[in-house]
Amino acid sequence: MNFNLQNITRKNISSLQPYSSARDEFTGEASVFLDANENPFNAPWNRYPDPRQLELKIRLSQLKGVSTPSIFLGNGSDEPIDLLFRAFCEPGIDNVVAISPTYGMYRVAADINNISYREVLLEEDFSLNAGKVLAATDSNSKMIFLCSPNNPTGNALDQTEAVRIVTEFNGLVVLDEAYIDFCPEKSLINVLNQFPNLVLLQTLSKAWGLAGIRLGMAFASPEIISILSKIKYPYNINLLTQEKAVEMLQFPDQKESWVETILLQKKKLITELSKLPVVLKIYPSDANFILVQTTSAKKIYLALVDRQIIVRDRSKVALCGEALRITVGTEGENQLLIEALKEIGNWKM
Ligand SMILES: *Cc1c(COP(=O)(O)O)cnc(C)c1O
Repeated sequence: MNFNLQNITRKNISSLQPYSSARDEFTGEASVFLDANENPFNAPWNRYPDPRQLELKIRLSQLKGVSTPSIFLGNGSDEPIDLLFRAFCEPGIDNVVAISPTYGMYRVAADINNISYREVLLEEDFSLNAGKVLAATDSNSKMIFLCSPNNPTGNALDQTEAVRIVTEFNGLVVLDEAYIDFCPEKSLINVLNQFPNLVLLQTLSKAWGLAGIRLGMAFASPEIISILSKIKYPYNINLLTQEKAVEMLQFPDQKESWVETILLQKKKLITELSKLPVVLKIYPSDANFILVQTTSAKKIYLALVDRQIIVRDRSKVALCGEALRITVGTEGENQLLIEALKEIGNWKM
């Protein structure tokens, strides 16, 4: 491998002099803050939040076993995804390669940044073929997007294939692990240090039950992280989010217990779904959702909407046929879904 971060960083980003906020220029202990034109009243909300999010990063560092200079925090995972394009891809010239089907935000971020987006179909069983992905790259390919467990298919990608891509590609490999708390043994976070071109994305939006506060994480070499930090909005993580995240991260057992419950309910849901005539196939899932091949995705989707139950129709997505993506809910919610599908299954589709 011939990875060189300097070579793939856009020139304007390499030479950028970042904005320096009041909170950047003074970080020590003090009691009188007259440096940021804040209102002196209405504490603590009157103060700008920590632009480096140090307390939160220290907690995450302990939890994830990754040092703080290897952690970037964003307004959801969407922020690091967008910043990666802005830092490394020259609009109108560079391209990225991604598996298909996968999470829709990579393409949207590519389109916004005018970067051509090359899709490589997964195999019929949604497994990853490293050779095919690598074959789709050329000298203007700056990033490869992988997602494991993958959305909407639900399966974790083969680690050997993923590592082969990381090892053989000269650009960045962005591996989105948004659902990794549901199968932590499949994470590459423990080998992050071995790969200078690997960027892992994780989030508090799924297993941690914090989608509302918008906190996404990127883990990578300190060199990559410092480039992202240099170009982010100074106060990208607001005070409420930082405080709530710090609070919740004290209770990893709560998250573990939710994960356990959700995985148990997933198993039950799969058992019940597999008995229904409208269900043709259930794909293996390592996440908190399942992809289900049905007799008619659109009709079932609409019939469920009539019963105030919303699932995701994935029938327009590559390789997905007549699939619905179903999030595992509470036992009661899952039961309502099963009852509704039983009713629907009694009609002629
Ligand atoms: C849900 C999801 C995310 C989370 O995005 P946030 O912006 O952090 O809420 C990221 N990637 C994938 C593949 C997802 O499905």
